[in-house]
Amino acid sequence: KLLLEVKDLTAVIAESKQEILKGVNLTVYEGEVHAVMGKNGSGKSTFAKVLVGHPDYEVTGGSMVFKGENLLDMEPEDRSLSGLFMSFQSPVEIPGVSNIDFLNMAYNARRKKLGLPELGPIEFYAYIFPKLDLVNMKTDFLNRNVNEGFSGGERKRNEILQLAVLGADLSILDEIDSGLDVDALRDVAKAVNGLLTPKNSVLMITHYLRLLEFIKPSYIHVMEDGKIVKTGDITIAKILEKEGYKAISTA
Ligand code: ADP
Ligand code: MG
Ligand code: MG
Repeated sequence: KLLLEVKDLTAVIAESKQEILKGVNLTVYEGEVHAVMGKNGSGKSTFAKVLVGHPDYEVTGGSMVFKGENLLDMEPEDRSLSGLFMSFQSPVEIPGVSNIDFLNMAYNARRKKLGLPELGPIEFYAYIFPKLDLVNMKTDFLNRNVNEGFSGGERKRNEILQLAVLGADLSILDEIDSGLDVDALRDVAKAVNGLLTPKNSVLMITHYLRLLEFIKPSYIHVMEDGKIVKTGDITIAKILEKEGYKAISTA
């Protein structure tokens, strides 16, 4: 079933009106993993942020339809309500707020929007407990303060846990592999794989073949100067790794 259809999407930086996205086309079906690769500055993060409605950007043309709804008619909050999420890095340590309380608040905010009753701490614990395995987290992780002393890998796994808790249909992961050693990467990949169901899809931005060896993408796209210029399978990532972007550049 069709999940996301982006057609000829163009977008500018709101402040300067500089065009960054110059006609992006992308179709995602349920149960697929899409990887977006591309040189620094090619517009990958901008694309992700435009999808979720980041205020720094203005869409100037094209369309993006998610689960049959026009994203352009939806506020960022409504987009997340409908199941489109970008992992948010919560870079701040929040003294005195435990990770489980933080996740409980985030989840309740979503339930409230959906008109569902909030979950108290005990109910929420029952809800989150089975998800810990999925991200390879021990329960004591929940009782630590948000991000306090988290290692790089723990932060990333926490982002995946957020997605698992909130229940995304399409999870957007922007460089979830950055700064991780190979063991942490394997853990994070396991967590992402744990998110995947025949109905959920993942759009992940990465520079590295090694991530794609752990999380098998259905498609790999290469972005160049604000457009997807090539789509294919893992072969693309292998060529990039060996020969660099010049090997597939259209410029
Ligand atoms: P990528 O994620 O592929 O490295 P980005 O989408 O982050 O690329 O950026 C694409 C281009 O747009 C870069 O040249 C970047 O400097 C510019 N850009 C993106 N967002 C902004 C912004 N908010 N203000 C100014 N320039 C921006
Ligand atoms: Mg970059
Ligand atoms: Mg980026």
